Amino acid sequence: MKDRYGRKISFKEKLISFMYGRNGADALGNFALILYLVLSIVNGFITSLVASLIISLLCYGLLIYSFFRMLSRNVTARRRENQAFCSVGRKVRDFFRLARNKWKDRKTHVYVKCPSCKNTLRLPKQKGEHTVKCPCCSERFALKV
Ligand SMILES: [Zn+2]
Repeated sequence: MKDRYGRKISFKEKLISFMYGRNGADALGNFALILYLVLSIVNGFITSLVASLIISLLCYGLLIYSFFRMLSRNVTARRRENQAFCSVGRKVRDFFRLARNKWKDRKTHVYVKCPSCKNTLRLPKQKGEHTVKCPCCSERFALKV
């Protein structure tokens, strides 16, 4: 393989120069690729022709979208989309982490949302009425366990 000046270059060098200035792989593109793979596998078990056709079209769309993201030269826009995707992903992860912790601590702690700053507080589970002081905003509120 030769470059535009006639010098011999390896395939790896050619690929690096082709990808220069392009977005490349990112979390959103990887998610689209993984979703494509999962849907392709699921599609193998679908017996309905119409449903299978819809999933196939969705798969092609995801594949095209992930390649579009990788090869896009508008890195600023792709980065912005990826950040929005990551922010949603963080919220989903935080939600499941909180749900898991609530379940794990269900016998020893209660989780309460501060009425003022909306932060979630983890408090020892003691029966009775208490006054809670939020460590974040110093707001005091009544709590009955
Ligand atoms: Zn608070």
